Amino acid sequence: MDLQYEYRTGIGTDIHRLVPDRPLKLGGIEIPFDRGLLGHSDGDAALHALMDALLGAAGLGDIGMMYPDTAPQWKDADSRALLLGVKERLEKDRWEPVNIDLIVHAEEPKLGPFKGQMRRCIAGLLDIDFACVNVKAKTNEGLGEIGRGEAIAATAAVLLRRRIRSL
Ligand code: MG
Repeated sequence: MDLQYEYRTGIGTDIHRLVPDRPLKLGGIEIPFDRGLLGHSDGDAALHALMDALLGAAGLGDIGMMYPDTAPQWKDADSRALLLGVKERLEKDRWEPVNIDLIVHAEEPKLGPFKGQMRRCIAGLLDIDFACVNVKAKTNEGLGEIGRGEAIAATAAVLLRRRIRSL
């Protein structure tokens, strides 16, 4: 019998302000830099965009509904743990990620050397193949708040699938 699946796509974006005296967390890893992303959690804009894409694809709203930034228990939260919570929620509805495409928009630091680590981290957290996670890094050509180095943003696209229950 052929397996049959239904598929859903989702997109997500996020942006956080760069400030001194914070570790820079992006894509689940810490990147050496003199500033970090300000946020109620650890400010990992890449994982936040990814979570919004996953929740959106599953029709489950957004990260703010699941983890309100007014809630004290998410203060300084590790976004990797938040992503695991999203994965568990998706699993309840039997969704599994097929692939992820993630863009980090940052003028500095240069993220090329860290893309592999981000892919490994995300693939490990979601328990999917490394090849199913793509990470791209782009500068903003000096334009706007990202170009001035005041913020880092991220955009994510995902595809989810689940088995159609046979009758
Ligand atoms: Mg965020």
